[in-house]
Amino acid sequence: MSSIKEYFSEVGKGLKSLVTGMAVTGKEFVTPKVTEQYPENRATLNIADRFRAELTLKYDAQGHHKCIACGICQMNCPNGTIQLTTKMVELPDGKKKRKLDKYMYDLGSCTFCMLCVTTCPQDALEFTNDFEQATFTRGALIKQLNYRPEPKDDSPAPAPKPAMDPEKLAKIKAEALAKAAKIKAEKEAAAKAAAAQTPAAAESKTESTEKPAQASGVATQDAKPATENTKEENKEN
Ligand code: SF4
Ligand code: SF4
Repeated sequence: MSSIKEYFSEVGKGLKSLVTGMAVTGKEFVTPKVTEQYPENRATLNIADRFRAELTLKYDAQGHHKCIACGICQMNCPNGTIQLTTKMVELPDGKKKRKLDKYMYDLGSCTFCMLCVTTCPQDALEFTNDFEQATFTRGALIKQLNYRPEPKDDSPAPAPKPAMDPEKLAKIKAEALAKAAKIKAEKEAAAKAAAAQTPAAAESKTESTEKPAQASGVATQDAKPATENTKEENKEN
């Protein structure tokens, strides 16, 4: 009797469990779906702005980027993901300037550390959140970031300097020549004066060397009688 009772009790528990499960399933039939239906939902997909998907150069409305090809990002990249090549261009004013030729970025080796972005002095780089970067080959992951054609430099060339008035030019020339002639004449006069002073200085030098010799001669002559006097004095004693 007890076994029949246990049997119906287990059947009742099973039915209750089935109804509970069916209730959960039935509820999910009518609640809104939360699963992302990718790729059908591309148009409505919401990716966080801070998601780091791909490095790019920032472009303004005119198509200019701010990179000055300083190479700091390349130096700071820990695994050689960035390779820059530069070129020299001539500006409208005739000066030469180093500019970016190619900015190559290998997405396949990027660790998304963002060191390049944070150290760029021009704030020329940023990460986009475009996460669809799957390719069939590794080579396709190497990208040129300055892909847009460089807009023409529309800054006007500096105006040529106005030619100098010929009369003014001749006056300046004459003044310069007069000044040079004056300096030359002063130099020649100074050289003549120095040459004239040189023999006089030599003579005075000779005189000054002879005088002490004569003086010493007098002193010797004066000393001789003194010695003789001393000898005579000794003999008398
Ligand atoms: S992106 Fe920035 S750091 Fe890198 S070369 Fe250009 S200006 Fe320099
Ligand atoms: S995010 Fe890091 S690894 Fe990637 S290019 Fe920049 S510095 Fe190199």
